[in-house]
Parts: sequence; structure tokens; C-alpha cells
Amino acid sequence: MTTILDTVTGQKAQPRHPEKAHKPDNPVQRKKPDWLRVKAPVSLKYQETRKLVRDHKLVTVCEEAGCPNIGECWEKKHATFMIMGEICTRACAFCNVRTGLPEALDADEPNRVADAVAKMGLTHAVITSVDRDDLDDGGAEHFAHVIRAIRVAAPDTTIEVLTPDFLRKDGALEVVVEARPDVFNHNLETVPHLYPRIRPGARYFHSLRLLQRVKELDPAMFTKSGIMVGLGETREDILQVMDDMRSAGIDFMTIGQYLQPTAKHAAIDRFWTPEEFKALETSAYAKGFLMVSASPLTRSSHHAGDDFARLRAAREAKLARKGA
Ligand code: SF4
Repeated sequence: MTTILDTVTGQKAQPRHPEKAHKPDNPVQRKKPDWLRVKAPVSLKYQETRKLVRDHKLVTVCEEAGCPNIGECWEKKHATFMIMGEICTRACAFCNVRTGLPEALDADEPNRVADAVAKMGLTHAVITSVDRDDLDDGGAEHFAHVIRAIRVAAPDTTIEVLTPDFLRKDGALEVVVEARPDVFNHNLETVPHLYPRIRPGARYFHSLRLLQRVKELDPAMFTKSGIMVGLGETREDILQVMDDMRSAGIDFMTIGQYLQPTAKHAAIDRFWTPEEFKALETSAYAKGFLMVSASPLTRSSHHAGDDFARLRAAREAKLARKGA
């Protein structure tokens, strides 16, 4: 049996996922299909982004989740900031972010994030967080502080938040929406029947309702959600999720291949082919999404800036068609 120790923090080595330590191993498939091969992150611009993140004492989901796109994104100075620490209170079976008891919120973090966004010259900033079930508001007020700080430091930058589900945190969603991000993203992650195994601390219909509520509160705000495939779902399951998302008024859907971080995480059921992703994209557009990104390496925040520009253009084109 494998034990995954966290030595990144420089503290005494400890299990990165204590709740998974006793679980049997799911051997990691080392041989990946060609379409999932990525270049090693080595460029000068990648190093510059890394330094800026370190200098500002920030955490990124790019590193914490072991994202395969980090070389490409950081070379373009795109990074997704993960606020409220690097320890998550949930224990999802697919996620590589550390789990345990988080530390107190850092009141200066919103300013540091905003400063980094301004220095990087980001046209579109993506802000996500760990789950903070330990906080009364799930961290909603902290999200709002970050959004407002970016508005001051970088007024031309558009802002996308990728939030937790705020389960049992009454009033939290409203606080984030009131801070007026441009895009409200919350991932459904997988199909409903896999929730007990893959996302046991979450509820599919709660997450869906959260996104529907965003539209009710602010119909102009773009909503976005995504799933991973390769966990045991069928094409029919995914088509049903698309229908559910459209019923909740979601504008933008992302679909990417699940990659297993360690032997303690859920095993890969299969690799979906680029052709299958293309077919999913076609079906999603047919169901009325304004934007769809479906490919093996699609992640919520991959190309988020370019995608936001296309999303806005798609809405304008749709409104123009209606008005014609
Ligand atoms: S896809 Fe998102 S999480 Fe991955 S490296 Fe790019 S910005 Fe970071």
C-alpha cells in the first residue's frame, strides 16, 4: 500500500490526504495516450510566473492540482489563484489539493492577489478556492474582498470566480454575486450517480441549483460549469448533465479528461478520445450552450481569457439575432 507524504510545505512530512491513507491502492496508469502528452514546463516566462507567485506568497490551483497545462499557461502568464489557503475541508476522490484543518484567513491576501493580477497584466483573472466548510460563510466574504481588490488594482481586468458549493451556508452565494464577478463558475465535476464515490461531500442538485440561483440573482452574469470524464460515466449520462445545465441556464460548459493524481485517488475508467470529445462538443452546442470547451486537456481555467471574449461575442451575436 502506498502512503502519499507531503513534503512540499517544508514542515514535518505528513500524509497529504489523511482520509485516504487507509484506502487500498488504485494503480496509476503510467502510459497515457499521445493526445495527453504535454511539454515539460521549462521556459523563461514560466519561471517568471513562478517567481511572481512565490514573491506574492500566493497559492495556485495549477500547482496544487498538478494541472497538465501548467507549462503552456504559465508561459503565457496565465495562472489561477487559489485563495483561502492550500488545505481543503472536503475529500473528493479525484482531487489532489491537500486535505485537513485549514488555517485562519489571511486578511492581506486580497491585496496580494490584486497586486499580482495587475503586475501580470492579466486581461482576465480566474480566482478559485479550497472548500472552507469550517467558516460560517464558506469564505464568501473573502471572495468578495478579492473581487473588489482586483477591481481597484486592475479596473480593466475581467474576473471569473470558480467557487465551492457553499453547501449549508445560507446567504453566502448572494455575497459573492453582489461583488459582481463577470463569470460565475462552479463545477459539477461528474455525473449524478458517481457523486457518492467521487464527490461524497457534495450534492449534485445543490450544485445545479447554486448556478441556477446565480442567474436568478443577476441574469446578466455569465455562468459556467464543467465535468471530468473517464470516471465511469456513459455518453447518455453526460447528455443528461448537459440538459440539466441548460435547465439551470448555464452559458458555458467545459469537459476534460480525468487524470488520476496518485494511487489513493479514483482509478481512471477509460480515456475518452479526441473524436469523442468533439462529438460531445457538437451535442452541447446543439443543446444551446453559448460556449463549449471539450477536449482531453480542457480544464475550467484553460484559455479562460480567450474563452471569455468568445463568450461575450456569442451572447452579443445571439441578442443581435433576436433583435433582427
Ligand atoms: S488550465 Fe487552469 S489550472 Fe491548469 S495550468 Fe492553466 S490556469 Fe492553471
